[in-house]
Amino acid sequence: MQVYLNGSLVPKEQAVVSVFDHGLLYGDGVFEGIRVYSGRVFLLAEHVDRLYESARAIRLEIPLMPADMAQAVEKTVAANGIRDGYVRLVVTRGAGSLGLDIRKTSDPQVIVIADTITLYPPEMYEQGMAIVTASTIRNHPAALSPRIKSLNYLNNILAKIEGTDAGAPEALMLNHKGDVAECTGDNIFLVRQGELLTPPRDAGILEGITRNAVIRLAREAGIEVREITLQRHDVYVADECFLTGTAAEIVPVTSVDGRKIGAGRPGPVTQDLLRRFHAFARGEG
Ligand code: PMP
Repeated sequence: MQVYLNGSLVPKEQAVVSVFDHGLLYGDGVFEGIRVYSGRVFLLAEHVDRLYESARAIRLEIPLMPADMAQAVEKTVAANGIRDGYVRLVVTRGAGSLGLDIRKTSDPQVIVIADTITLYPPEMYEQGMAIVTASTIRNHPAALSPRIKSLNYLNNILAKIEGTDAGAPEALMLNHKGDVAECTGDNIFLVRQGELLTPPRDAGILEGITRNAVIRLAREAGIEVREITLQRHDVYVADECFLTGTAAEIVPVTSVDGRKIGAGRPGPVTQDLLRRFHAFARGEG
């Protein structure tokens, strides 16, 4: 495997960063996860835009232009012969002193890893998954905006541990108001009386690129989509529920906190959107 590190492709054993990097010491950095379908990097421009927005929000200057970053991704995918896979793009603050002062750091590290991925077993896409609500709430947006895709994922990891303890592959996270936010690494959608419902950006969520693609695909298919505040009750009484994410794609949810959702099987709207999403991802849509 060849890893892109600061402008060069190097064997993965040589792709190393300093123990003084603030990415490691403080989770100070930003990242993206990107899919590759049929040799095409999926929604690359959207991911590069979000990376630079995250960096801007944390006052991290990325030492290359967005177009060069996109090229670095393409180059790494090609060098590893990835046709269907997953790219991890990381920019760290760089090495510094043992203190928080970003002025004492230098050389942000730009890393691109291209690999394959299977997040959930194939049966889950056919039968749906059972999830639980975590007691860990999503970061308060006034403390650390969930719209920043930072290297500091402890909030999500703590909720994920709760899911894992309960035997669930994902966990639902509420926000500081008690409203539905998102899952630990995925956005959430409900279907209610033929309408698609999802929490708005100001619910304190990462504005998922898959989420936005699904909203667009649904609207193109004539499905009404509303970004509205949702309570846990709305999830329990939904006709259908599914999650979206780059790695997860679209995964049906058939049980939440022991409540069966709809008929307890992936519903027709979810299945329709899954088909549309796959066609779009493969460049057919
Ligand atoms: N929410 C969180 C917290 C995430 O980490 C992710 C990405 N794994 C998502 C939502 C989904 O975002 P995207 O569709 O851009 O991958």
